[in-house]
Amino acid sequence: MDPSESDVIIVGGGIVGSTLALLLGEAGWRVAVVDAAPTPGSDARLGQGKPALRVSALTAASQRLLMALDVWPWVASRRVSAYRGMQVWDAEGSGEIDFDADEVGGDALGHIVENDLLLAGLTRRLRSLPNVEWLHEARVTGYERRQSVACDGIRHDSDAVITLDDGSQRRAPLIVGADGAHSPLRTMAGIPVSERETGQAAVVTTVRTAVGHGAVARQAFLASGPLAFLPLAIDGRDDHCSIVWSTTPVEARRLTALADTDEGRAQLGIELARGLGERLGDVEVIDATPHFPITQRHAQRYVDDGLALVGDAAHSLHPLAGQGVNLGLMDAAVLAEEWVRARRRGAAPGDRRILVRYERRRRNENAAMLAAMQGFQRLFGSRQPALRLARNWGLSGVNRLMPVKRLLIRQALGEYGDLPERCR
Ligand SMILES: Cc1cc2nc3c(=O)[nH]c(=O)nc-3n(C[C@H](O)[C@H](O)[C@H](O)COP(=O)(O)OP(=O)(O)OC[C@H]3O[C@@H](n4cnc5c(N)ncnc54)[C@H](O)[C@@H]3O)c2cc1C
Repeated sequence: MDPSESDVIIVGGGIVGSTLALLLGEAGWRVAVVDAAPTPGSDARLGQGKPALRVSALTAASQRLLMALDVWPWVASRRVSAYRGMQVWDAEGSGEIDFDADEVGGDALGHIVENDLLLAGLTRRLRSLPNVEWLHEARVTGYERRQSVACDGIRHDSDAVITLDDGSQRRAPLIVGADGAHSPLRTMAGIPVSERETGQAAVVTTVRTAVGHGAVARQAFLASGPLAFLPLAIDGRDDHCSIVWSTTPVEARRLTALADTDEGRAQLGIELARGLGERLGDVEVIDATPHFPITQRHAQRYVDDGLALVGDAAHSLHPLAGQGVNLGLMDAAVLAEEWVRARRRGAAPGDRRILVRYERRRRNENAAMLAAMQGFQRLFGSRQPALRLARNWGLSGVNRLMPVKRLLIRQALGEYGDLPERCR
């Protein structure tokens, strides 16, 4: 492909950017993907041995999208962990709710997938498309829009020009920011972002448990924040879990430091087991224990002239419901759906109406999820007796109300709102 001729440049080849590249590449678009990171590994050991530290819980809707893109079969042949059940409870009270795939006649509520493995699966498919060009270890350092003015003096086309860290430039009528929560492209385009400090940080690690998880995802709401045990299926065994423990930044630093020594790791295992109310017995920490600050961000606009934001560049939210990747995949699927459909009708790639339609379909839905995460955090972080009583009644009450429960399960499956065709 001539490097100057792309229909779209995607800045950021993470899970969301790569999925968008595949959706558009398959539809015949000339796509360039620019990423500051090295090429994702195609290591034969991916998905074998010890599980990777960073995993994502994918909804059924996300799985269907990856299936439609022929990424899922390869990833699943390596390693995915289905979860059939979910238990959520208030560790400070008596409220509890549990879901089972049987309640909606499904096989699974979702799957836990290692991020590296998923990215490798996407990259593998992208490499088979001659119309997708990859620029790895290339950082975008500049962005501007240039109008081309024809000899009649009337403005005609407008191209995005990006500058890379080696000084070279690329242009295309469309540019997508899939460059993560701190999105340099969003900043360079001057798109304002609303930020909310959650006052929490997420500690992640991998553990082995004495009692098998039975393909059930568990989350306990502790006074300091939610503690999640995500079930991993490793070599046919069900004794590994991926941990996301959201807590205060001070506590997160202490937990991370504990993993530095054997004694500390043993102590961390005890605290994790206690946090989970000993439901899986003794816990052994088997990996590093980094932590990440949790800031909720929402771009005030998702689009500009010939520019769209997707994934964490548009929104980043509390990991308590494991929705970040899922929302990003829905952004990618909706944006591709709108573009591919409009192009078949002869619209130009940079047509603003297409971008506006994308923003309309995604921004409100993502805003609702961000608000829900904020509400959950407030409700479960509260020590007020009235709120504690309400949440205990609420959880247990909903647990007995089948129609409401089914609705919540549909949400967990990602089957709500304005779903793009390829996710139905
Ligand atoms: C502890 C934790 C647990 C989570 N668990 C879940 C879960 O269970 N389920 C779920 O759905 N989500 C989960 N998430 C959220 C999820 O990880 C993110 O939403 C997701 O990774 C965002 O993907 P992305 O592709 O939008 O961005 P990223 O993965 O951040 O990718 C951005 C890419 O842009 C590139 N880039 C950045 N700047 C530049 C530049 N200037 N030039 C070129 N390239 C650039 C980077 O190299 C990177 O490859 C979790 C998050 C955390 C912190």
